[in-house]
Amino acid sequence: MSAASVFDVIIIGAGAAGLFCAGVAGQRGLKVLLIDHSPKVAEKIRISGGGRANFTNRDLDPRQPHKHYLSENPHFCRSALSRYTPADFVSLLQRHGVPFHEKHKGQLFCDRSAQDLIDVLLRECAAGGVTRWQPCAVQAVRFSDAEAATRYTVETDRGPAHAPALVVATGGLPVPKIGATDFGLRVARQFGLKVVEPRPALVPLTFEPSAWAPFAQLSGLALPVRIATGDKSQRQSFDEDLLFTHRGLSGPAVLQISSYWRPGAALRIDLHPEAALEPLLLAAKAQASRKQLPNELARHLPQRLADTWTATRADWQRPINETPDKALAQLADSLHRWALTPSGTEGYAKAEVMAGGVDTRELSSQTMASRQPGLYFIGEVVDVTGWLGGYNFQWAWASAYACAQALPGVLR
Ligand SMILES: Cc1cc2nc3c(=O)[nH]c(=O)nc-3n(C[C@H](O)[C@H](O)[C@H](O)COP(=O)(O)OP(=O)(O)OC[C@H]3O[C@@H](n4cnc5c(N)ncnc54)[C@H](O)[C@@H]3O)c2cc1C
Repeated sequence: MSAASVFDVIIIGAGAAGLFCAGVAGQRGLKVLLIDHSPKVAEKIRISGGGRANFTNRDLDPRQPHKHYLSENPHFCRSALSRYTPADFVSLLQRHGVPFHEKHKGQLFCDRSAQDLIDVLLRECAAGGVTRWQPCAVQAVRFSDAEAATRYTVETDRGPAHAPALVVATGGLPVPKIGATDFGLRVARQFGLKVVEPRPALVPLTFEPSAWAPFAQLSGLALPVRIATGDKSQRQSFDEDLLFTHRGLSGPAVLQISSYWRPGAALRIDLHPEAALEPLLLAAKAQASRKQLPNELARHLPQRLADTWTATRADWQRPINETPDKALAQLADSLHRWALTPSGTEGYAKAEVMAGGVDTRELSSQTMASRQPGLYFIGEVVDVTGWLGGYNFQWAWASAYACAQALPGVLR
């Protein structure tokens, strides 16, 4: 075994969490090897946030950071998120002179491009003297407790590497075409750690083609809605924009709710959440308006939606002054309480994140260390899933930081 192949820590996966963890650990004085199989660096960061990376969210509540995350163990993420906050990451970007701006609901984006963020992470790695092997495929991970300093051996196509600590930062299953794999889940299982069944999250929802046929023509149409799923005890709702697609629904409202949606469950959508429609329609009728009902409705909703919706009933296609009050009430009610059950999701090809992952009950919330000595998991591979809006990157930074601070010093 050559000294060049022995490190303090080997990190597999050079995405958001792996790059950040490597930089912080390297700057603590650890000898770090960072391995990634992809020929391109941090491709998921590059495509994130429409190419501008929504890298954190100012609305993350420091007293209840877990509020914006899903996990079978909801409080697990609290410790790491409260020790490395959005303000900490913002000051890192400011130190590097990266311009950014705030959008909707506390979301922070790079002004220029996500490449700025990748460059910061690479500079931090360089400052920490991190050794990077990329592209470099990993064939196997082996553990031997004979000698602590080299207990992990990672077999790669550049030869073996050894370290007392191994950090798995290989992310989730979404977007396999840019290098996502189930490597992290396989390593967890290899060492007998439980995995919460993964599923696509922040993902468009689809419907049976025959049920969706009347709405397929609305593809491309967007409007603000209130969307909810779950029964009373576990009801979750979001006020966001909805987007009709050829196969179903997307847009921020649907991406958010998709993380909470379970197969077979219904969605409830209020297509006009800002005001009750019935009094508005009755008021128009009281003015003896002879306008066709779809056109009157189009004062409050996009015309295409008003036309499609009213086409389903003959008594919704008359002049408003000839429409019975009851029919107006039913129309308003149908728009406020649209109940529909998706048949599925667009899957990992279109999902932004994976829900589920390495069971957090197997990990320390302080350090991300697993029950298996010297083995750590950070980022999306862990069963912590953020809302849309920069929360997933913030989890990547926070979990990486907690791990990097905890990694043991030189054991050699
Ligand atoms: C289209 C899209 C847009 C997104 N936009 C945002 C956004 O704006 N804001 C936000 O907060 N989140 C966003 N996300 C989610 C966010 O990108 C991820 O949650 C985040 O990148 C997770 O960080 P990670 O380091 O855990 O994993 P990743 O960043 O995915 O990194 C994992 C790394 O591991 C490598 N790897 C995988 N398997 C292996 C293997 N077998 N061997 C070696 N290396 C391997 C991969 O090549 C990759 O480089 C978006 C996701 C997508 C798909």
